[in-house]
Amino acid sequence: MTVTPAEQALLEHYVKKILAAPVYELAVRTPLQAAPALSETLGNRILLKREDLQPTFSFKIRGAYNKLVQLTPEQRARGVITASAGNHAQGVALAARELGISASIVMPTTTPQLKVLGVRNRGAEALLHGESFPFALAYALELARRSGREFVSPFDDPEVIAGQGTVAMEILRQHQGRLDAIFVPVGGGGLIAGIAAYVKYLRPEIRIIGVESQHSACLQAALVAGERVSLPGVGTFADGVAVAQIGAHGFEVCRFCVDEVLTVSDDQLCAAIKDIYDDTRSITEPSGALAVAGIKQYVARTGVHGQVLVAIDSGANINFESLRHVAERAAVEAL
Ligand SMILES: *Cc1c(COP(=O)(O)O)cnc(C)c1O
Repeated sequence: MTVTPAEQALLEHYVKKILAAPVYELAVRTPLQAAPALSETLGNRILLKREDLQPTFSFKIRGAYNKLVQLTPEQRARGVITASAGNHAQGVALAARELGISASIVMPTTTPQLKVLGVRNRGAEALLHGESFPFALAYALELARRSGREFVSPFDDPEVIAGQGTVAMEILRQHQGRLDAIFVPVGGGGLIAGIAAYVKYLRPEIRIIGVESQHSACLQAALVAGERVSLPGVGTFADGVAVAQIGAHGFEVCRFCVDEVLTVSDDQLCAAIKDIYDDTRSITEPSGALAVAGIKQYVARTGVHGQVLVAIDSGANINFESLRHVAERAAVEAL
């Protein structure tokens, strides 16, 4: 990877922010856990970064807290508004309660009920609007303009990106030996931008591989076009990543830091949820299993073996009733 001085300065800017992010006032350092059965099947050493074990069951608490804690007293007093597919919403709700900030959160009407309850139970106002994230986002931006509340993007904000980047800081501390690639689920690109900035600054030889749902592959579309594009529609099975346009701040990093982007099908996600269950006895949501689905596809395509591959297991917020569907599709995918 050759980077220009301006690009190197951008990475350094993020690394400093990541090192200074006070996320551990609310987030926890999650385990980087071996997946023995997957490793055996795939002939590579697979490690899972267990972000499903955060207090809100996804990494989003990192970015949300890092953003809210840095608001001025005036901004805090006016309150915040955000749009979210559900996990950022819970992160903002928890961070806002912790900091005594009033929060209104717009979520699509298709949001799993447990994510809506996760917001209301933490004392924030949940407004359901639009059938997918892009519609909820437009409405939240309008409300922010009208109310004077600070809009907190789920991914398109340098403080949010820096908060998510603390995942990479932990991975490099937890695993100091050979590490070939980190597979990162991509929605609006906040998580992968934070991870890529940190890793490419310190260990540029480690490959950063984005994994998208084939129904919301907005990073891949942007990399192909050479600019951010807006997808005409998004599928919501992997609701945590159902975003139509990659964030501007994230794309600034991704365009030179992401080595490759893979797309996977819903059935591949269901199979990956089962793989994660078999190794950890824990359930992930569809978006949370993207990285494992990506590793399986990557190993099958490239034939690599003996490598050390990390998957970000990014969230566990799935309605219990959906598990029947997931189990059925996983069985079909295994045929
Ligand atoms: C938000 C989210 C992602 C994607 O993160 P972005 O920063 O939007 O790219 C992946 N997995 C889960 C579970 C999420 O909630």
